[in-house]
Amino acid sequence: LTGYVGFDSITGQIEKKLLKRGFAFNLMVVGRSGLGKSTLVNTLFASHLVDSKGLLKTNENGVPIQTTEIQSVSHIIEENGVRLKLTITDTPGYGDQVNNDKCWEPIIKYIKDQYSGFLRKELTPTRDRRIADTRVHAVLFFISPSGHALTPLDINVMRRISEIANVIPVIGKSDSLTIEERTAFKKRIKEEIEYHGIKTFPYADVFVDEDLSGGLGSVLDEEERADRQLVNAIRDVIPFAVVGSEKSVVVDGKAVRGRRTRWGVINVENEDHCEFIALRNFLTRTHLQDLIDVTSMIHYEGFRTKQLLALKE
Ligand code: GDP
Ligand code: MG
Repeated sequence: LTGYVGFDSITGQIEKKLLKRGFAFNLMVVGRSGLGKSTLVNTLFASHLVDSKGLLKTNENGVPIQTTEIQSVSHIIEENGVRLKLTITDTPGYGDQVNNDKCWEPIIKYIKDQYSGFLRKELTPTRDRRIADTRVHAVLFFISPSGHALTPLDINVMRRISEIANVIPVIGKSDSLTIEERTAFKKRIKEEIEYHGIKTFPYADVFVDEDLSGGLGSVLDEEERADRQLVNAIRDVIPFAVVGSEKSVVVDGKAVRGRRTRWGVINVENEDHCEFIALRNFLTRTHLQDLIDVTSMIHYEGFRTKQLLALKE
């Protein structure tokens, strides 16, 4: 198995002193049950999770069992001297009940609880300058590979989460879509998300520091344009169409994560087969720091302001 995840490339993104202390990245998966959430997170950091048994609970026959409560598992992973505390929060599928009223509440509560815990520690005078960060930095929102529209429940849940955290939509089990279906479905989902005014990460409107951009003129304009281009290119790929697998299969004498079907092998790490690698690069290489920053500066800040204003009243 190719074990390298690539988060050590973050050295280009954050300061050395932060790196030495290590940093935390908290990822949550959300969606209806059976869409491959548990399998995917297990595949994402496969080689790193083997020792700690991984997240995916299986019965004695190796068949995954359903996730019934919100559970977080942390792992310390290290690459080229960079330490990352990775916490994955797996959630039970929502929408299984006859009455799905408020089925999103435990998820929203979990995210907000991390914010209020952080705020409480921030407000407590303490010698400990560093607060353990359990705030959810990214929510992978799983969409069913139905090829149809998003369900009203999906739209509702996605909207609520996107108001308080970074939502990244993905199409689960996308091996069930043909290439044409996949392209059409991705386009459709993008249009729906836009139509419903749901904000997904990375955001189309880049946050610019007004004070900074004022005097510097064209240099920043150019940088800004490059930034926007990058964001647009990535927004084009989203939602990532992913495939997960709890098993490795042998392709050309090499063990890879894959799914064997009657017509051949789907290699999870083959970019022609699915967008698993694109998603992993996005999460662990290109946007790790951005996800952490936006969580802290936009989502948490919004929560904090509201709480503090409420205290004054
Ligand atoms: P969850 O309920 O969303 O956590 O889904 P699980 O990860 O438990 O997976 C549910 C079932 O779908 C299991 O039998 C998996 O083996 C299977 N599965 C997971 N990922 C994929 C995938 O990408 N493609 C296909 N075809 N099946 C998958
Ligand atoms: Mg599960």
